[in-house]
Amino acid sequence: MDAHVSDEARALARDCELVDLHIDTMIPPRLWGYDPLVRHRGAILGGRFFGHLDVPRLQEGGVSGAMWSLTTNPFRTARRRYVMFERNLARLRDLVARSGGALAFARDAAEYRRVRAAGAHAVLAAIQGANALEAVADLGPAAVPDDLLTRVTLVHLTNAVYGATSSPFSWLRRDRGLSAAGRHLVEQLDAARVFVDLAHIHPQAFWHAVEAHDSSLPLIVTHTGVRGVKQHWRNLDDDQLRAIADTGGVVGVMYQTSFLSRKGGPRDGAMVVEHMEHIVKVAGEDAVALGTDYDGAITPPRDLRDGTSYPRLVQHMIDRGWPTERIRKALGLNFLRSFEMLRPG
Ligand SMILES: [Zn+2]
Repeated sequence: MDAHVSDEARALARDCELVDLHIDTMIPPRLWGYDPLVRHRGAILGGRFFGHLDVPRLQEGGVSGAMWSLTTNPFRTARRRYVMFERNLARLRDLVARSGGALAFARDAAEYRRVRAAGAHAVLAAIQGANALEAVADLGPAAVPDDLLTRVTLVHLTNAVYGATSSPFSWLRRDRGLSAAGRHLVEQLDAARVFVDLAHIHPQAFWHAVEAHDSSLPLIVTHTGVRGVKQHWRNLDDDQLRAIADTGGVVGVMYQTSFLSRKGGPRDGAMVVEHMEHIVKVAGEDAVALGTDYDGAITPPRDLRDGTSYPRLVQHMIDRGWPTERIRKALGLNFLRSFEMLRPG
């Protein structure tokens, strides 16, 4: 395995704004009491599924901010989903409070800059699976106190009252679009200036959401691959990429090997950069971003197995001839531009 990382790549990862649009590091604490404040030896379970990240490794990897996902378990009742969401949000608040200033919430772009100036990692609170809020649908995102919520992924791996998933579970549902409740939710999120995240959603529901959404606000897809490189139900086609870019939003490429790797293609982290390059080609270099999905039960490419390897991704970009400015945009500046549009502060 060639895991060469130059001083240039390390310096770039350390010095630039690096925002990971999707981390699931609040899942392992629920599963087995994993403490994200403690440094874990890399590669628990060979680097598969969980244990990719903790706060020391985020710092070591140069990660200046991330969308910390609170992921919904769809197999609970609507009421229980909300109770569990509240509990998980309390856990996230507790983690930030216990971090001794290493972590701080960023509700908007101005707060992000303040957090960064203080040398902390910016925590952007996010929900994966809007059915966490189904029991409080009247309030929508306003149910989350302190304006903490920055983004909601409308659906996850299962169908929801809001619409159909892109996963094979969509076959359980005759209507693969966005429901009236889903359209209403998009309007609520727009009104509250919370990112509407169209990762995981069925293509039909995707286009309904684009229609329902206020086109003057940026849409995002936080973690995905692209069909232009690999045909897969989890990935976006070129029209979808352009639709996100047209709103001033960004598309984050994720690290799940099975969504990314193509026949005859690279076997290491270069596969991530291939997907990013397709986004650049189709939708322009202002639309590309990173959303690893670390700790989200994924198997990352072999040289990106844990959160210390962000500089290794930068090395792949350098090796493929990316100009420095494009690297900076993909790692954080593009997203921060969208954040500034939606939530200037
Ligand atoms: Zn996901």
